[in-house]
Amino acid sequence: MRRVSIFGATGSIGQNTIDLIARAPGEYDVVALTGGRNIAQLAADARRLGAELAVTAHDALLPDLRAALEGSGVEAAAGEGALVEAAGRPADWVMSAIVGAAGLAPGLRALEQGATLALANKESMVCAGALVSRTARAHGGRVLPVDSEHSAVFQALVGEDLAAVERVIITASGGAFRDWPLDDLAAATPEQAATHPNWDMGQRITIDSASMFNKALEVIETREFFGLDPAQIEVLVHPESLIHALVGFRDGALMAHVGPPDMRHAIGFALHYPERRALPVERLDLGQVATLSFRAPDETRYPALRLAREVMAAGGLAGAVFNAAKERALDRFIARDIGFLDMAAVVEEVLTRLSWRAGLIDAAMTLDNVAQVDHLARDEADRVIADRN
Ligand code: NDP
Repeated sequence: MRRVSIFGATGSIGQNTIDLIARAPGEYDVVALTGGRNIAQLAADARRLGAELAVTAHDALLPDLRAALEGSGVEAAAGEGALVEAAGRPADWVMSAIVGAAGLAPGLRALEQGATLALANKESMVCAGALVSRTARAHGGRVLPVDSEHSAVFQALVGEDLAAVERVIITASGGAFRDWPLDDLAAATPEQAATHPNWDMGQRITIDSASMFNKALEVIETREFFGLDPAQIEVLVHPESLIHALVGFRDGALMAHVGPPDMRHAIGFALHYPERRALPVERLDLGQVATLSFRAPDETRYPALRLAREVMAAGGLAGAVFNAAKERALDRFIARDIGFLDMAAVVEEVLTRLSWRAGLIDAAMTLDNVAQVDHLARDEADRVIADRN
């Protein structure tokens, strides 16, 4: 039996992963499931799947988790340290689907024990892509992309020579405000931003889709995953969200990956790789779809895309600054302390302020340095917001 663990099991990606695992009883031994505040879901899934261990990220919720697991034989644990320890339990395949930079340390630990890491947590690649790749290489682990665009690129590259790749195009739906007048964006609310036209995802990534911070993170993730030059990576707005990415080769061929917006495809591909197994996803009827439309992204509407290019040019730990400032700005937008358009302005100002700090962005890429930079960037984002108000 394959030993699998799911980090961020209570979230949107985690639940889709559990859906696939639960459809194949007897094939998987579930080692660890982790969650945050949703103790009822975590405990229910740990019982149903017969997990060895369930971990909540929050120490204060340990008594609730213990109570919910009573009599099940599932171990309970809590806190950041327990998450990393759980990632160290031998497993063949580990899903990294915690949201935010909090996913980095458990993912690295899973790679250290030689697991295949199915990486939905794009923040790991943005904050510390070189460290993730180095850790995988050093321990014989492997990282497989789960983000739909990166899975699409990965699939288009099977059997191809990376040297023959001219460009990669990742698509974006354009998010909730794609067709809103620019003047209305300043007053957009978190609820409006958290409604995605095509994908059913967690609240944070859905808001990041509206601002295109999600696509900005994905551009950096593409560079880190496939070792491309930033100039080779393009973003294309594609409102139907059916083509997830295209790879352009030097002979002019463009290979597109087409599929319904259902994350179980990319998760299933990573779960069964290198095999392609049947998956419970809708089959597209292109006659019904009839039209696929595309447009170039407008960087006035989506300043996050310009910032991603600046971050890639700066290199080093700039990705960790970018991600942490974005996470903090998003927290403050959700708390209604700042407006929708302020998020990009805050992130840009944090990048400007911290890039002047000697040695900060150029420090060695270690977990400690990434954590330190992450902390500084969140504090700086709060200072920027205080200065603006
Ligand atoms: P959700 O918000 O739905 O779920 C996040 C998961 O992480 C939950 O299990 C949550 O626990 C847990 N969690 C939250 N904060 C912490 C923390 N500080 N420490 C440990 N665990 C925590 O997110 P998604 O499933 O949408 O996204 C997960 C990751 O996958 C993100 O990096 C996202 O960018 C990426 N991704 C998501 C896609 C999607 O379709 N949803 C598509 C491609 C990538 P709880 O809910 O119990 O509090």
